[in-house]
Amino acid sequence: MSRRKAVFLDRDGTLIVERNYLGDPAGVALLEGVPQALKQLSDAGFLLVMVTNQSGVARGFFTMDDVARVNGRVEKLLEREGVRLDAVYVCPHHEQGIVPEYAVSCVCRKPKPGMALAAAKDWNLDLSASYMIGDKPADVSFGRNFGARESYLVRTGHGTEADAGDYVAVAGLTEAAADILRKDRENP
Ligand SMILES: [Mg+2]
Ligand SMILES: [Zn+2]
Repeated sequence: MSRRKAVFLDRDGTLIVERNYLGDPAGVALLEGVPQALKQLSDAGFLLVMVTNQSGVARGFFTMDDVARVNGRVEKLLEREGVRLDAVYVCPHHEQGIVPEYAVSCVCRKPKPGMALAAAKDWNLDLSASYMIGDKPADVSFGRNFGARESYLVRTGHGTEADAGDYVAVAGLTEAAADILRKDRENP
């Protein structure tokens, strides 16, 4: 069977409003245009894969159950708009954390490519035909590290304060999706 294409999506500051260490589902608010942009990508045949660093777990700010509840809220709000995430990957680790189980140097904390490599295996993905969208330079580096066709820095969330770098910066998810769809049409 031929391999699928995915768009990897950061959560905080990319799909939802950045709250800095969000452990409460009540704090989840989708950014403007997000459901529509995701719907277009999904309709074009891309799998939607959310990849999120949640070092708040290692730091003892909230638990994996809290992360699951927040992610569930994100999925529920998207489903109300007719969009389904195909997969969600979480890195709960941080070397300087205080929760022993999670205070480790892992292979999954972005910019390390572990979550993309796991998704590629789980979903039979062609990573070189896949894309990354996030609001931090570490997200862009993650995309480069897994060999994405392109990685976008959105100017929402922390992206409003990121320095200009050698990455493709776009206003938000709407603009990133439009560019992906254009590339995909021109050179599938
Ligand atoms: Mg983010
Ligand atoms: Zn990790």
